Amino acid sequence: MNNEIAELKQIIEDSDNIVFFGGAGVSTESNIPDFRSENGIYNAVNQYGYPPETMLSHTFFKIHPDIFFDYLRKTLIYPDAKPNNAHIGLAKLEKMGKLKAVVTQNIDNLHQMAGSKTVYELHGTLYRNYCVKCHKQFDIDYIMNSEGIPHCDKCGGIVRPDVVLYEEGLDDTTVYNAVNAIRKADVLIVGGTSLNVYPAAGLIDYYRGNKLVLINKSTTPYDRRANLIIRENIGQVFKEVLDL
Ligand SMILES: [Zn+2]
Repeated sequence: MNNEIAELKQIIEDSDNIVFFGGAGVSTESNIPDFRSENGIYNAVNQYGYPPETMLSHTFFKIHPDIFFDYLRKTLIYPDAKPNNAHIGLAKLEKMGKLKAVVTQNIDNLHQMAGSKTVYELHGTLYRNYCVKCHKQFDIDYIMNSEGIPHCDKCGGIVRPDVVLYEEGLDDTTVYNAVNAIRKADVLIVGGTSLNVYPAAGLIDYYRGNKLVLINKSTTPYDRRANLIIRENIGQVFKEVLDL
């Protein structure tokens, strides 16, 4: 076991108020590619003629819902993805009473699949969908099993995922809960994010403790503020730290 892993192990052992903040890197280890990555952008432009940021904008959804849903089904939804050791480890820490919340930028439901209960999904989730007219709720299968633009079986309105599109604001309650958890946290573990996506990344600024742990393969703008930096795959880190 290397020094950083031993140090993280100790930090976790000593705390019962840990909060985890995670980004796309947590999901890529479950083979869900990051649509914001170079590859993701290249493939989107190549196949559709638009970058992901455009196709996942509110305006584009309004004007080209057909392309929006095609991109969604083919590129964003991975029904066979399974939680990895990071998800499993975090769920275990919550069960042990050590972890208070997971704050995530991901929209893939993998934390809940691993058993986590308190999950603040800053960008919403693909697993909740609703009719824009009557607000009836639908699950992800309704989207996957429909063709073209999914319509509500009650009123005929368009059924859209409850995710935050570009040009749309984050959900106030979710942000409030996330800020509150981070502000009160004794330990903040940040993983799988280069902390470049705003406004989500700005939430880290609310942390007031002195145990900021960064687990990320590349450098981040917050490296100087971190008390511990681990440059390894996040799944591997949790596997070693929690003996999974
Ligand atoms: Zn409806």
